[in-house]
Amino acid sequence: MTSNKLARTATALPGETNPLRYLTGYPATVLEQVRQLLTSDRLAPLLQQRYPDTHDIRSDKALFDYVQDLKTAYLRSAEPLNKVCFDSKLHVVQHALGTHTSVSRVQGSKLKAKREIRVATLFKNVPPEFLRMIVVHELAHLKEKAHDKAFYQLCSHMEPNYHQYEFDLRLYLTHTEATGQRIWSDRPDAP
Ligand SMILES: [Zn+2]
Repeated sequence: MTSNKLARTATALPGETNPLRYLTGYPATVLEQVRQLLTSDRLAPLLQQRYPDTHDIRSDKALFDYVQDLKTAYLRSAEPLNKVCFDSKLHVVQHALGTHTSVSRVQGSKLKAKREIRVATLFKNVPPEFLRMIVVHELAHLKEKAHDKAFYQLCSHMEPNYHQYEFDLRLYLTHTEATGQRIWSDRPDAP
């Protein structure tokens, strides 16, 4: 992608293709800095430098074990998880931060809650810090439904750098939205 195209995309504000929508609510000075990083092609190198590695969680099974370990460490008393998976149908714009569902199903004569955590496939090719951030976010929803103070306190308890990682993830989403390009390359899926 040429920097011309980038500049056009980044200046298409405000509009439906506003790549800065992942940063809604942040101060104007922050948005301006991000806009300048984008138009000068410096956002991707900055993120790559800060997060050089990708994680190696390739399968739903590996993801389940990863989530289960974190849950055991921090949320032992929360209800057990029935399912954890990567979901390619999860639309990043609507559910950038994954989804958590608690589906009630009748099993025999009992009504059982089925707890699932779905993580957008995008998170297969990200640094370990971003995967940890999204999993911490979804796990925190087992205890706190709303994005309120108690929720973010729980996130920060599980991952002290939670806020930094979430902001940097939003920067990455902004980059992919504006350029159509990823930063971290694919690893092969587990056989
Ligand atoms: Zn949430």
